[in-house]
Amino acid sequence: MAPIASNTSALLALRCPRCHEGKIFTSRAFSFSFADMPAVCPVCGQPTEPEPGFYYGAMFVSYAFSVAIFAVTAAALYFLFGDPAIWVYVVVVGLNAMLFTPLSVRYSRMLMLYLFGGVPYTPDWVRYEPRARRTAPASIRTEPGLKSS
Ligand SMILES: [Zn+2]
Repeated sequence: MAPIASNTSALLALRCPRCHEGKIFTSRAFSFSFADMPAVCPVCGQPTEPEPGFYYGAMFVSYAFSVAIFAVTAAALYFLFGDPAIWVYVVVVGLNAMLFTPLSVRYSRMLMLYLFGGVPYTPDWVRYEPRARRTAPASIRTEPGLKSS
């Protein structure tokens, strides 16, 4: 498959930010393993988790998506269905929140990866090594058994 030219289209298609070809999620959205990601992009080898704990920030994006889902669903019930009983709100908003969970999780992670992952689109990625996980520079790494005297 040819790479997707625009960053936005590649994000929406859940593709790797580096090559715009590799799929970032291994299974379909509506399966129990909807959040599974390969360790590296299957096409270009870019690590999908730029640093340990990188996706904790995606929880806040996911929270914003959830608030939007709650608000839009409640407004639709109020204006389109004439303010039904409170239990209808609870059931419909709850079901909608569960229905949209896979999309919310996936797109919040993709937003984190594209906005804060530090991985630019590299059309000629074949010529370069993937940007590896960030590790401490050798100058501040400590070796066991070494003592300064
Ligand atoms: Zn890739």
